[in-house]
Amino acid sequence: MEWRGARRSGNIEDRRGLGGVGVAGGGIGALVLAAIGYFVFGIDPQTTMQVAQDLQGPTQQQVAKGQVGDADGQFVDAIETSNAEVWGPIFAAQGAVYRPPESVVLYDNATPTGCGTGQSAMGPFYCPADRRVYLDLTFWNELESRFGAKGEFARAYVISHEIGHHVQTLLGTSEAARRLGAKGAESGSVRLELQADCYAGVWAARAAETSNGQIVINRADIEDGLGAAAAVGDDTIQSRSQGQVVPDSFTHGTSAQRVRWFTRGYERGDPAVCDTFAASRL
Ligand SMILES: [Zn+2]
Repeated sequence: MEWRGARRSGNIEDRRGLGGVGVAGGGIGALVLAAIGYFVFGIDPQTTMQVAQDLQGPTQQQVAKGQVGDADGQFVDAIETSNAEVWGPIFAAQGAVYRPPESVVLYDNATPTGCGTGQSAMGPFYCPADRRVYLDLTFWNELESRFGAKGEFARAYVISHEIGHHVQTLLGTSEAARRLGAKGAESGSVRLELQADCYAGVWAARAAETSNGQIVINRADIEDGLGAAAAVGDDTIQSRSQGQVVPDSFTHGTSAQRVRWFTRGYERGDPAVCDTFAASRL
């Protein structure tokens, strides 16, 4: 994957090195986090709840947005910017305006969010209340070691999946989906997650053209992305972590479904094919 020549808008809030927020208690923050647990990338909401209970409600920890100096941060910036370049024209074609996320927040350990305290163990997530994507870059290590998903494109898929949740917030999809339930093979949560995978595929399909060739995604990158999508399927995670698969507790969809919806978005490059809510087969 090539991206170093790509535009970077600096929509990054770099909170790395600020130190985590205090640890104690539970309270409202924990409940809020459990509610948004299903926006988390590939992590079970139960995990979110447990983590949240160890954390206290936060204080402000906002920093100015801007360019970052390190390559890892610049990569996130480039992918966020590219997503804006992809979604801008798609929204415009519908007579709408795409407004990017408020920022992508880079943090270590823990940070306050509009959805309660964000914590590394949750994995990357999008908070609809403050319209920010939260990312602890140590997740990339976990993506490789725990999920076996290597390569920059696997990371770009994760970032674009989270921005897919932002697109859903802009379109009102997230709100409508909540009524369909947070768990189960046909739940609103699974449909939202698979749609975010499909949106990540749409980004991948259009990134080269909208970046004037500054982002290059080759066949091997797509294979990396498919490997990442497969690695974070509910069935794969469950069979590895608990030795059995319980579809009633699915939140993100199976590996096969995640691969299928990402591929669908990538092959067609059109979010109209990402309507997981109308699909008779997920
Ligand atoms: Zn998600």
